[in-house]
Amino acid sequence: MKPIDTSIIRTRKTEETVLLWLSAITALSLLPFAFFRLYKAEWAIGVFDSSIIFGMCSLWLYVYKTGKTKGASLVISFIMLAGMLLTIVLKGTHQIVWSYPATVSIYYLNKYKVAATANFIAIVILALITYSKIDMIAFTSTMVTLLATNIFALIFANRTNDQRKQLLQQATKDSLTKVGNRRAFDYEISKLVQTQTRHPSPISIISIDLDHFKDINDTYGHVKGDEVLIDFTQILKMRLRGTDNLYRVGGEEFIIIPVHADLETTYTLAEQLRILIEVSQLTPNQSVTISIGVAEYKAGETANEWVNRADKALYQAKNSGRNRVCVAK
Ligand code: GH3
Ligand code: MG
Ligand code: MG
Repeated sequence: MKPIDTSIIRTRKTEETVLLWLSAITALSLLPFAFFRLYKAEWAIGVFDSSIIFGMCSLWLYVYKTGKTKGASLVISFIMLAGMLLTIVLKGTHQIVWSYPATVSIYYLNKYKVAATANFIAIVILALITYSKIDMIAFTSTMVTLLATNIFALIFANRTNDQRKQLLQQATKDSLTKVGNRRAFDYEISKLVQTQTRHPSPISIISIDLDHFKDINDTYGHVKGDEVLIDFTQILKMRLRGTDNLYRVGGEEFIIIPVHADLETTYTLAEQLRILIEVSQLTPNQSVTISIGVAEYKAGETANEWVNRADKALYQAKNSGRNRVCVAK
């Protein structure tokens, strides 16, 4: 098998980088205003600006240290919307212009349904705050343009979400069998090895190769060969738990990562799968069999070393007659 692409795990996700920059820029751009207000003894606005700076710095540290973005996105959204509303209360209705970038950015930071709900609440509060303070025409045009901006942002966020789902599906699923592809496997195994170094727990992988698959293609044709591969994955999926991940890592090579299974449990599962495939009538006249290598993770080894051991066990199963399970040393 080709070496695993561990670079697939990037050090920082885009969301993390965006949150780090957003909180840093907000804090830095508010800093001179906070100083100025405090210097001028405008305590309410000064303390308000300082609180936002403090909130943004805490958020920056949290995201930098933990790499978690979900909670941080919600908090930064809350600070932005509340900040925008308080700015209008404290500094005057000419600050309404901030409601446009504030509400639009919420769509980038959150799931679109969460963003739409948060913005709707913020716009209602904004309407209540400004209703009696500006004339009717200005109020109406502000509300109409703000709502229109939000509706477009919502439509855009919804479409982006659909496209993102589609792209993710294309990037991580095998087009023939719809199980995880090689890229998804590389990502998952690299992540798993990273987790093992912090929280070790018994975990094994099952490496599978269909026996004499070339003969199946030669006998029944390539199209039937494809069908066999699809049916094969369907049968495995019926037996596996939803969380046991199945990947197609080569033409007729598959790897299963059972969740939190020790070597013994994994070996039993592999043996059950081998029998299950043997008795399933995948081709009309001959039974399709599989050879399997099982390898438990050894502390300190790389993802490549781990998978290579599983491959070695698989070759051992092939060399000792096929249709069997071998365990890696
Ligand atoms: P062994 O028992 O040693 O694994 O023998 P084998 O014939 O299975 O192995 P070999 O590596 O010689 O051949 C693998 C075959 O799998 C050759 C290739 O045409 C076939 N194959 C790979 N990908 C696909 C696919 O997507 N569809 C079909 N139908 N066949 C495929
Ligand atoms: Mg093969
Ligand atoms: Mg084969």
